[in-house]
Amino acid sequence: MLGSMMKRDLLISELIMHAGKYHNDTEIVSRESNGEVTTSNWGEVADASRRLASALGKLGLRNGDRIATIAWNNHRHLKTWFAVSGGGMVCHTLNPRLFPEQLIFIVNDASDKAVFFDKAFMPLITGTRDHLKTVKHYIYMGAHDEDVAAAVPDALFFDDLIENGDESYEWPALSEDSPCSLCYTSGTTGNPKGVLYFHRSTMLHTFSIALPDALSLSSDEIILPVVPMFHANAWGIPYAAAMTGAKLVMPGPGLDGDSLLALIDDQNVTLALGVPTIWQMLLAAAEKSGSKMASLRRNVIGGSAAAPSMIATFRDTYNCDTIHAWGMTETSPLGTANQPKGKHLDLDADAMAALRIGQGRPPFGIDLRIVDDGGDALPHDGKAEGALQVKGHWVVDTYFGQSESALTEDGWFDTGDVSTIDADGFMVIRDRTKDVIKSGGEWISSVDLENIAVSHPGVAMAAAIGARHPKWDERPIIVAVKAEGADPSEEEIIAIFTDKVAKWQMPDAVVFTDAIPLNGTGKMLKNKLREQFGETLIERGV
Ligand code: AMP
Repeated sequence: MLGSMMKRDLLISELIMHAGKYHNDTEIVSRESNGEVTTSNWGEVADASRRLASALGKLGLRNGDRIATIAWNNHRHLKTWFAVSGGGMVCHTLNPRLFPEQLIFIVNDASDKAVFFDKAFMPLITGTRDHLKTVKHYIYMGAHDEDVAAAVPDALFFDDLIENGDESYEWPALSEDSPCSLCYTSGTTGNPKGVLYFHRSTMLHTFSIALPDALSLSSDEIILPVVPMFHANAWGIPYAAAMTGAKLVMPGPGLDGDSLLALIDDQNVTLALGVPTIWQMLLAAAEKSGSKMASLRRNVIGGSAAAPSMIATFRDTYNCDTIHAWGMTETSPLGTANQPKGKHLDLDADAMAALRIGQGRPPFGIDLRIVDDGGDALPHDGKAEGALQVKGHWVVDTYFGQSESALTEDGWFDTGDVSTIDADGFMVIRDRTKDVIKSGGEWISSVDLENIAVSHPGVAMAAAIGARHPKWDERPIIVAVKAEGADPSEEEIIAIFTDKVAKWQMPDAVVFTDAIPLNGTGKMLKNKLREQFGETLIERGV
């Protein structure tokens, strides 16, 4: 033998051991279900998760068992994550915004053995438990509570489990090729599918997202993950915070603009992450209150396209640098993040702003390509648009419970997105394959039209969809929600598209609605909008 290096498996338990040992007094702030804000630290989270893992073992839960959580982002949820995955079980985050039927489907599909729940979701538990075939234990995430004991008579209490947990418990030696967590796709159509993450894939993702050219995380950050832990693992932030020793501020159920603003200002949050709808509410609250969110240096927007006007408002009014990021449940989720390269630092303000609009470039560990309808690779020239495919260390191969790989014959995962990629690797999402508007054989990007529509101050939210057209097959129309107190006309909104898109890409109509339906992770349900407004042009007799 020439020599060797230590061989250690990459395990989630190492993250919490590290945070507990080297960042033990770094605070974890958490807003609880009742609105109270509590403070603990990484040392306490590390200790509690070990005790909880021991308690789960005593309940008969074993390696590989799926344990569900239905909870907001709070300190107990964090402890559950590390206890379950560190202890060798699989942490299955459930999205409480799903319909009860979908929830039942998912729990049964995953064969969950136990469910941890926040008080807010107790009705969901009592309403569905008769249909949850495999669940043996219901664990209430709190101290002993009479209301809970009355509604769920066999409930176990989180704080009791920790209290009685084994102080001397040691994390098991697992293989890094064993599963640690499970998350179902948000499924805008059809039944959701489970993505089973492994310790190794999660750890490599964690290293990667912390890098300076990705989310640039470190121990001097105070991070507010607004993105829920049930939405693609809160984009990996709880793991990366433990790795870097960052302070976490967990927002609990308070996801409205005023509550988030209060947390940002009270806790001096430096970095916050969430989907565009959250930022819209936050910006409205900040404008109303006059707060400049002085501590907020950066925010990460992903999950849906960030409108350029939103990125500009954060930059110009709040001195906050937006990192626009793209990813999917299937990619753990980070696939790209928009950080300029060294060669871009001399760009003038306009060119830099233009560069930062897109979804950015892949970190090491992710590879991207675009292909045409025949599956042939297209050039990375920033112009060619094609189906975006991805490959990498934290990308799904086979969905949970399925026997066939989800990959193409040559080993790529087709994302269902349409994009361009330029010579520097900067990727711009043009649309979902299903949402592209096809007018007379030409494609129109719904994202482009939406970005223009929401730049009108009278528009709070907008979706561009293809409405049926007798001659062109489909023509773009805008479904818009008016901003509070504003009353823009259809003509006024159509007028702002002049000179911004080619004439044939101009929307043919604007219809107003009170609210745009969103799925459980905040994405616009365009299939619902097509059902509702798809006949608009035919009805208008075009
Ligand atoms: P999910 O698995 O629910 O996170 O959904 C993944 C999908 O969300 C992607 O395939 C994209 O269609 C969309 N998505 C995520 N991030 C972005 C982004 N920054 N811009 C546009 N679409 C995005």
